[in-house]
Amino acid sequence: CGVFAVLAPGEQVASLCYFGLYALQHRGQESAGIAVFDGDKVRLHKDMGLVSQVFDQNVLELMVGDRAVGHTRYSTTGSSRVCNAQPLVFMTRLGPFALAHNGNLVNTVQLRDQLAADGLSIKSSSDTELIAFALQQAVNAGLAWDEAIKAAALKCKGAFSLAISTPDALYALRDGHGLRPLVFGHLGEPGAGAWVISSETCGLDIVGARFNDDVAPGELVRFRLGEAHPFRSRWCEETPKLCVFELIYFARPDSRFFGESLYSYRKRIGQRLAQESPVEADLVIGVPDSGIPAAIGFSQSSGIPFGDGLIKNRYVGRTFIQPTQAMREAGIRVKLNPLQDVIEGQRIVVVDDSIVRGTTSRKLVQAFREAGAREVHMRISSPPVTHPCFYGIDTDSQDQLIAARLEIEEITKHLGVDSLAYLSKEGMLQCAQEQAQNFCTACFDGNYPIAVEEELRERKLM
Ligand code: 5GP
Ligand code: SF4
Ligand code: MG
Repeated sequence: CGVFAVLAPGEQVASLCYFGLYALQHRGQESAGIAVFDGDKVRLHKDMGLVSQVFDQNVLELMVGDRAVGHTRYSTTGSSRVCNAQPLVFMTRLGPFALAHNGNLVNTVQLRDQLAADGLSIKSSSDTELIAFALQQAVNAGLAWDEAIKAAALKCKGAFSLAISTPDALYALRDGHGLRPLVFGHLGEPGAGAWVISSETCGLDIVGARFNDDVAPGELVRFRLGEAHPFRSRWCEETPKLCVFELIYFARPDSRFFGESLYSYRKRIGQRLAQESPVEADLVIGVPDSGIPAAIGFSQSSGIPFGDGLIKNRYVGRTFIQPTQAMREAGIRVKLNPLQDVIEGQRIVVVDDSIVRGTTSRKLVQAFREAGAREVHMRISSPPVTHPCFYGIDTDSQDQLIAARLEIEEITKHLGVDSLAYLSKEGMLQCAQEQAQNFCTACFDGNYPIAVEEELRERKLM
């Protein structure tokens, strides 16, 4: 999911939030929503669809206030229904709050039982709703906002990057491991008291905000109206475990992590891949868009020319994000078409960022053969995905993951390629330089940094 929030008195916060969400659209395409606070009054607008479908000028103009919290949803837990759209707005004894969440909790059963024991009976609800209930309960039990937010966060296990607006402040919070990213920046002069929270730095860029810092893992940052500086506090101390898949695939290439754009990181892993698994060929082709930077790196390092061999229909979104397998399969054909003139008679190296189910690669290889490729070699700029994610990336259950079921030689056959190689885990991590120790790599090695409840494990693990 994408999370974006603004505190900017005198600005059109709803419009700023709209553009921020637009920049984060790749993080979720199922639903979008914005809540705007004017004092302690809240206006909420959310619906299924893309940001541009959910909002128009008229809707945004009616949303007047000094703070906004926005969300784009990518369904992980809970089905894709409009009642699961975010932000959520809840009422407390201290007034309303709006909450937007990126990530996935892994103790929802326990959390639901706890809330039930305290007299809150919640039937079916998303993990985000459980966080909101926990916060509501903490406030109504007598805590002030900062303490209530920390108390609610301490009950949660899993991945949660949050933006929360209360009647007098905006908060950004990351789980103890910082599994999902979250950054903040300022609008206008530093110290002017106008702040932006975003899942990725590309959201800051689009509204002209300057990057200040990451919200640290286990940190709560409060931005209050009329205060020149945010108030930062630690509510939890854990080892940082940022999702490495954010670097490999999920986040936008123009977003910056650890002071560098992901474009640069992805080019570097492409270079590394060429060194680890060289191949003799005539042309390097990247699978748009996510495989392109690594393909450029592969080409630079190997000396094999980079060429456009695939044309992408700009109007089709991320295939992976469509909820059903049938839609996914149809989606790939609509999305990518090979350039026959470029490919015919050539030995090609196809570079992609990842193989998950193998559907994309298999279809692509067929299309390249039909277009007359003489040899097709696949190079993947991440290790084999062998384990499902429980922390907010919808990589499906383990039996759907091709590398969980098949050895590399079998995958090679299944895809119909002349050769196949994946980047090593060491390569992937070493390319992240000094951060190498600070990642979750569970989908590549099964080392889950946070224990997952049995009920959830059973659903996804073979
Ligand atoms: P496959 O067809 O193997 O399941 O999907 C692999 C392709 O889907 C790659 O091109 C990758 O860029 C893309 N992809 C999209 N979304 C995701 C995602 O959330 N996780 C992963 N791993 N790959 C995704
Ligand atoms: Fe990211 Fe994989 Fe860890 Fe999920 S399991 S958080 S996708 S690295
Ligand atoms: Mg891709």
